[in-house]
Amino acid sequence: MTNLAINGGPKACDYKWPKWPIWDETDKKALIEVLESGEWWYGKKVREFEEKFAAFQDAKFGVTASSGTTALEAALLALGVGAGDEVIVPPYTFMATASAVLRINAIPIFADIDGNTLCIDPDDVERKITDKTKAIIPVHLAGYVADMDRLNEIAKKHDLSVLEDACHSWGSRWKGKGTGALGHCGVFSFQASKNLNSAEGGIILTNDEELAETCRSYTNCGRGKGKPWYEHYLLGSNLRLTEFQGALLLAQLSRLEEQTQIRETNAGILNEGLRNIPGIITIENDPRITRRAYHLYPFRVDLKKLGIKCDKFIDALKAEGLSCGKGYDRPLYKNPLFQRKGEGPEFCPMSCPYYGGEIDYSKVSCTVCEQVVEDTLWIYHSVLLAEAKAMHMIIDAVKKICDNVAELK
Ligand SMILES: *Cc1c(COP(=O)(O)O)cnc(C)c1O
Repeated sequence: MTNLAINGGPKACDYKWPKWPIWDETDKKALIEVLESGEWWYGKKVREFEEKFAAFQDAKFGVTASSGTTALEAALLALGVGAGDEVIVPPYTFMATASAVLRINAIPIFADIDGNTLCIDPDDVERKITDKTKAIIPVHLAGYVADMDRLNEIAKKHDLSVLEDACHSWGSRWKGKGTGALGHCGVFSFQASKNLNSAEGGIILTNDEELAETCRSYTNCGRGKGKPWYEHYLLGSNLRLTEFQGALLLAQLSRLEEQTQIRETNAGILNEGLRNIPGIITIENDPRITRRAYHLYPFRVDLKKLGIKCDKFIDALKAEGLSCGKGYDRPLYKNPLFQRKGEGPEFCPMSCPYYGGEIDYSKVSCTVCEQVVEDTLWIYHSVLLAEAKAMHMIIDAVKKICDNVAELK
């Protein structure tokens, strides 16, 4: 007799999961209004969104950009990070966290993550600081907030900038304050898969007016505020949004608060139900995270206890009817980009005179991250918008797999 759906048993999650993105007449009307106005370019709607989103995250200033990736690059430049400087980043994140550093000819230095939070480990950050270190980029992974108290304290002590990669954390709060302006500045993404989306887009938030103006200049061709249009001060780029994106973001933002609450409530049900299942390790809240906005619901599987590989577990869970996956399947430094070796312009800045040495990423080892990429799986944020009863189906599915794990061997 088989119990698991992967072996022909009944599905635990017979449920029609919400689709992403979500839109209705509000979004449609907003887009048509821009179309008919003829004002398609970087204007009122973009400004209004910048103000509203900054306020939503408790920041004073918002400067939009074409993506989270380009926003990270502009923010690093505005913070004064330059060629040959070191920037400490976690290896459990999307490539942009580290590639943005390389794009401005600086050197990403990997600090391990904490297996209980999946965010950068402040102790390892401290160990990785050298006299070349200029900045730290914590990633608020899946909406969990990295330990900003410790990171800000470390940064202050060593005179470093803190740039939050908040590309998973629209709506997250640390001790009552929104992410993004907890350090010097922070960056969000509005790419299609994100909780707030205009297909592509990004924003930099900060409480520092001068920094905001420098970011504005970098994202708008190096122009100066109130200066002649064809006068350029910085080596910027064109990272501007259109009014269509601004209008869509405003419409999407009008639903974000409610969606964030639904996700958090449903994730609470999952935490309750999953934490006591032998073989499952949940990512438990730090009480200083006063709101955890879930871009993903990650949890870890005790592979030794269950005696299977994570991929098997995922296949079984998918067969039960759940939309889930492995997520980041390697630490960033294991990517071919970091593993290649050589000299010449294409290897700059990893081995070039700016850095004054060669960095060998094949020697980097972040042991916690290397374990996490083997045993962690992600449930996607759209799933968390389903009804509460669907969360109980997920719990039943996970429990069923753990109880019948022998069927997978
Ligand atoms: C999505 C994402 C980015 C980059 O955002 P894009 O808008 O896709 O360029 C950066 N960091 C993290 C952690 C992300 O998930």
